[in-house]
Formats: sequence, C-alpha cells, structure tokens
Amino acid sequence: MSTRKKVHAFVRVRPTDDFAHEVIRYGDDNKSIDIHLKKDTRRGVVNNQQTDWSFKLDGVLHDASQDLVYETVAKDVISQALDGYNGTIMCYGQTGAGKTYTMTGATENYKHRGILPRALQQVFRMIEERPTHAITVRVSYLEIYNESLFDLLSTLPYVGPSVTPMTIVENPQGVFIKGLSVHLTSQEEDAFSLLFEGETNRIIASHTMNKNSSRSHCIFTIYVEAHSRTLSDEKYITSKINLVDLAGSERLGKSGSEGRVLKEATYINKSLSFLEQAIIALGDQKRDHIPFRQCKLTHALKDSLGGNCNMVLVTNIYGDAAQLEETLSSLRFASRMKLVTTEPAINEKYDAERMVKNLEKELVLLKQELAIHDSLANRSLVNYDPMDEIQIAEINSQVRRYLEGTLDEIDIINLRQIQEVFNQFRVVLSQQEQEVECALRRKYTFIDKNDFAAISAVQKAGLMDVDGHLVGEPDGQGFGLGVAPFSAKPGKKAKSKKTFKDQLSSSARKEGASSPVGGKDLDVSISKTQLTPSSKDGDVKDMLLRDRETSNIEPPSSDSPKEELRPPRPSTPPSKPVAFEDFKNERGSEINRIFKENKSILNERRKRASETTQRINAIKREIDMTKEALNFQKSLREKQGEYENQGLMIIDEEEFLLILKLKDLKKQYRTEYQDLRDLRAEIQYCQHLVDQCRHRLLTEFDIWYNESFFIPEDMQVALKPGSSIRPGMIPVSRIMSLGEDDQDKFSQLQQTMLPEGPDSISFYNAKVKTEQKHKYLKTMMGLQQTQRK
Ligand code: ADP
Ligand code: MG
Repeated sequence: MSTRKKVHAFVRVRPTDDFAHEVIRYGDDNKSIDIHLKKDTRRGVVNNQQTDWSFKLDGVLHDASQDLVYETVAKDVISQALDGYNGTIMCYGQTGAGKTYTMTGATENYKHRGILPRALQQVFRMIEERPTHAITVRVSYLEIYNESLFDLLSTLPYVGPSVTPMTIVENPQGVFIKGLSVHLTSQEEDAFSLLFEGETNRIIASHTMNKNSSRSHCIFTIYVEAHSRTLSDEKYITSKINLVDLAGSERLGKSGSEGRVLKEATYINKSLSFLEQAIIALGDQKRDHIPFRQCKLTHALKDSLGGNCNMVLVTNIYGDAAQLEETLSSLRFASRMKLVTTEPAINEKYDAERMVKNLEKELVLLKQELAIHDSLANRSLVNYDPMDEIQIAEINSQVRRYLEGTLDEIDIINLRQIQEVFNQFRVVLSQQEQEVECALRRKYTFIDKNDFAAISAVQKAGLMDVDGHLVGEPDGQGFGLGVAPFSAKPGKKAKSKKTFKDQLSSSARKEGASSPVGGKDLDVSISKTQLTPSSKDGDVKDMLLRDRETSNIEPPSSDSPKEELRPPRPSTPPSKPVAFEDFKNERGSEINRIFKENKSILNERRKRASETTQRINAIKREIDMTKEALNFQKSLREKQGEYENQGLMIIDEEEFLLILKLKDLKKQYRTEYQDLRDLRAEIQYCQHLVDQCRHRLLTEFDIWYNESFFIPEDMQVALKPGSSIRPGMIPVSRIMSLGEDDQDKFSQLQQTMLPEGPDSISFYNAKVKTEQKHKYLKTMMGLQQTQRK
C-alpha cells in the first residue's frame, strides 16, 4: 500500500528591502536557488574559495503570502492526515528568518495567520465534509528548552501542574510524552483557544523564566482518530500531525558568550546537529540505526521523522547579503533533507469491542439461517449450542457401545457432535490403554530393556536365559562367572565342523532327539539382551511374538509333513496362540519335542558350566592361599640362613609339600578350565540348535496354519502328487520343500566358509535367510495368482 516518497523541502525567503540580487538568484521553475559570491578581494589574487552554489529544492517561496505558503506546504499533508497518514511540517532557519511567522503567523492578524491555525481549520472543515465518520481531534503543545520538556498547555485549569517531570516513552504504537496534556477539541474555536494559550505561555515563559523563545523548539501536535459511522466497520484510523517550530539555527557562542547564553548555545547547537545527524542517517539507505535518542528533540520526533509519515521542511532564510553565511548553511541543511525518503502508510487499527459485537450479530444471524435450513431439510430442531456434561456422557456411552459392538452406528447430528464423538474415541482409547497396561502389570514384572543390571540380576536368579527370555524352569541357571576368556582352537576345527553339520542335518530331518555334544569350538556369539515380558510358558509366547513379526515371510525349511486327517475347517480361523497349541499336539509334535529336548540339554550344560566356574574359582582361591604360604616359608628360610649342599638348595618338608600341592592345584585348574571352555562351546552350539528348532517350529506352524485355514482345500488336493496340475500351479511339495535345497546350500556354506572363523555364521545365516524369503514370497505370490484365477 505504501510507496516511497522524498521529504519535501521548501525555502521561504523573508521579504526585505535590501535583497541581495547579485548574490541570490532563483531558478526559472522556482525550484532552485543559486548563490553567487564575488571573489573575496581581501584574500589576494590567488584564491581557491568556492564562489558558486546551486541548491535544488521542491519550491522557493519568495514574496509568498501566508495563503500560498499553506497551499504549497501544508494542505496535502493535512488532508492525508485525515486518511490516516502521519505528517510532520518543520520550520528551520536562523533567528528572525520567519519560522514562527510561517508556523504560527501573526496572532493579532487573521490574514497573516500561519500554518498552525490554518491546519486546525482544514481539519475541522474536512470533518464536516465527512459525516460518514466520527472523527475526534486532540491537541498538545510541547516546548523543549535546554533539553527540558515543558507543557505549553499545563496552565489550563483542568490540567494542573504535573508532579513528575515529563518523559519520552516508546511503545509499539509509537512515541509519546508521558505527562504531556492532550486536549480533546470538538470545534475550531476550542482548538484556536488552545493554540493561543500555548503561544501566550511561550511568551510569558520567556519573561518569567528568562528564556529566549527563539532558543527553544516547539512542537504542536494534532491527533486525529476516525471511526466509520457504519457500525459493521471495525477498522479505524489514527494519525498525528506534528507542526515543529525549531530553535534558531545560527552558530551561537562562538566567542564571548557565557552563562545562560552559552548553555542555550550548547543545547541548540547539539540538538540541531543531532537532528541533522538523524536526517543524514535517514537519507543513507545503508544505515539501519538512526540515532534518535541522542537528544529530546529527535527522540520526541522519532516516529515523525522519516518513517511512515509525509514530511515537509520549510527552511526560512534572509534575503540580505549580510546573512549569507547562515543562509548557505540553512540551504545545505535543506538539500540534505531532500535526500531523505519516507514510506507513508495508513495507521489502521481494529476496534476490538466493535469486532466482538459484530461477530455476535453474525452468530445470531447464522443460527437463524441454520434453523431455516433444518426446517427445510425436514430435520427436527437441532441444538447447535455447546454440549453440556450430560450430552458428552451420552456420546461417551455411544462410543463405548459402538466399540463393544452393541451399537451399529452413531448418527451424525452436527459438526460439534462429530467432533465430540472423535474426542470421546480418544478418551476411551486412552482409558483402555491404561487398563491393558494395569492388567499386564498385575500379571507380569516389566524390566527396562536398557536396565542391564536388572537383566543380569534376573539372569543370575535363573528366571531368564541369556537370550533374554524368561525361562520359567527353576533349574535354568545362568552362567557368566567366566574367570578367563577362552578362544577356539584351530586344531579342532575339522572335528567340530563335522559334528556341527551332523547336528544340523539330523535336526532338520527330524530324526529324533540327538545329543548335541561336540562342536566344542564353535564360538557363536550370543549377545542379545532383548527382554520380552513373558509368562511361565515363556518360550512359546515368545515364539508367537516373533512369529507375528515374521510370519508369511519365513520360509519352510524341511521335508513335507506327514499326511494327517484334519477335522472340517472352521469358518473363522482360530487365533494364532490357540492354533499353536493344536499344532504342537499335531503336526508340530515331533519338532516341539526336539525343541524341548534341546532346551533341556542347553539348561543342563549351563548348570554344569556354572558349577565348573564355581569350582575353578575355589581352586583359584586355594592356589592363591598356597602361594602365600609358600612365600611365607621362603621368607622364613631366608631369615634363618640357607643351607647349601653342593650348589643345591635345601628346603624343609613343609615347603616341599606346599610346592607339591600347588603343582597339583594348577593341574586341577587347567583341567577344569579346559572343561569350562568345552562346556561353553557346547552351550553356544546348543543355543544355536534351540534357535534353529524354534525357527523351524514357527515356520512349520505358519505353513500348517495357512494350509489349515487359508489355502482352499480343493487347491491343496489339486496340488498333491499325482493330481492334475493346471498351468500356473505350483506343486505343493515344491512349496514345502523349498527349504531343502536351501538347507543343503546352508550346510555347504557352513563347511566351506567356516575356516573364515565362526563369526561368519551369522553373516551366511542372514544371506541364506534373505534368499529363502525371496523364494518363498515369489512362491506365495504365484499361489495367490493361481487362487484368483
Ligand atoms: P523566527 O521565528 O525565525 O525567529 P519570526 O517569525 O519571529 O522569526 O520573524 C521575525 C520577524 O519578521 C517577525 O516580526 C515577523 O513578523 C517578520 N516576518 C518574518 N517573515 C515574514 C514574512 N514572510 N512576511 C512578513 N513578515 C515576516
Ligand atoms: Mg521564532
């Protein structure tokens, strides 16, 4: 909305009989002044002094009536103020050049009145022309003298003298002077009275307070606020017109002045030079900080210099040659001011009270509209008011019934009700979550997965195996007291590989429980710490949990199952936990048995490992004690003096026995330690077997589950060996034996890759599993396609 605009700078020349025609020349367009000086003869022939200046301005007012000055300078600013734009008009120049004459004018002569009374007149005239708006006018009159603020209207009976000194305050709305009286004026005449009151005070003050009025800055402010009379319009505009009569700009106190004059000179020089600095900064597009707060004048005018206002400067000069130096200085100021750009913008505000009233009205209207709509749509009267507790409780009960299945649907009434239904869904859901958690907590003890101390405590207490599953068997003792690390012996590789493969294939072929001994050096790392909360039947539940995560993508791993006579298929499949129990008694019985057996072997080995560890620790303690005793004997011997016989050391019997004992203990230690190493290898191997069995049990269960409840029976019949096979069908035996090849491949891999080290097992396991998954998925997709046909 706003556009950039330059400050308008005018020059007004005070009429004189002694106008310096040879020195001051006006441009033809009346927008420039040229100053031409004759060479100063006193300075001799060689003279570098500048003699010509040219100033471009927005207008030169010479021999201009007060009327014309107002028209040229102020009229637009005032008229725009009524539209919401702030405006500032400033008179600058040396004392006696006509600033006050221009701004206030001759108060005794109406014809010669200045900008101020004319502005007030224009404001009230414009208000009369705008009956559509309720416009209020307020005025204030501030004087700044020697950096102090004075209220020129404080003498009015209803104001009273201010107790505290006035201060300049900044807030988001702008700058205002705290303590300055602001007067509401409803008509021209009142406004004039205020102006005269101020002017009178200015003159009185100059006598009583011994202050020279030409040494002070005066700011007359008109505040306008316009509200539309149309009540629906909640926008309103405000604006501020600052009319500034600055102190004389002449260079004061250069010499000889003292006391009051010196003080005035210092303050005026300072404030005008700060004004100039602020204006230079405003003119410099690159500057982002403007030093407004350096003096009262610029601080008070902060939001009226540049910024979003219309700004006009009138520079008053003498036309006399004698004043040329000050005239030049004033013209320089004017041309600098012309460089300043402003961005006038309307001050638009919102009347909150009116806004609320309007919204309330609209609400009533819309409700009526809705009522009409409902009656046209044949809907019984719907209430659109906010719901009360009873209505909310009713919705809550509806939602509960809906979730239980006792209510088929919830009728839609209105938006508010729909929102409440969703809200109650959330309420019910969070309640149920809490209930479930409470129920679980009553039954199980949760352990934080990251709480390793708790996990190891549970492991030690035998409530959980090293995989983090609660074992439930009271004898399932953990081990972990390892005294020393052990590593696989490369020399035993060949034997262990064979045993491992044998174990693998025997378990895969379900040849019954085989004792998983051997594989002593398999250092399959077991490092899972995941803890799944589970019950006494820990393993099964745990398996089911994993089953849910991996079902449908895990491949079957072995030969086809034996034929079973199945009872008729139910219309809805049983839940997986229930089905799993059945499976374990049916087709999965064999593998389940192997699984259990492997597990019990694993537990037995763990127990033995734990016992061995304890023994090792005991031996170690005894070794330490014996060593200590020996050392004691040795020191005793050294004290008593050694006997030597032909270079042989002679020791007593006690020491000798101790040496023998130590030797024996060390031997025991080595044996036990070897046992422990073997046991650990076995444990890890058994763990691997248990994992494999668990995996097979689940995969087989999955196949069985799908077969029993999902794959159509006729298709299964068609897929059986000897049955007719249509194109696109995959023989069921092929699906089931998918894993066979893979198992072989796996065994081969184990054989060929093991030399790389036992760590490679997990790597190849993963590789094979991925391949199996892909194959399985492909097969299942083929099956589904066939099914669709
Ligand atoms: P300033 O305020 O700049 O010190 P004033 O406005 O008081 O100067 O002017 C000094 C004197 O000159 C006053 O008597 C004033 O009436 C007179 N004067 C100034 N300018 C004009 C003008 N344009 N026409 C007639 N008289 C003027
Ligand atoms: Mg004056």
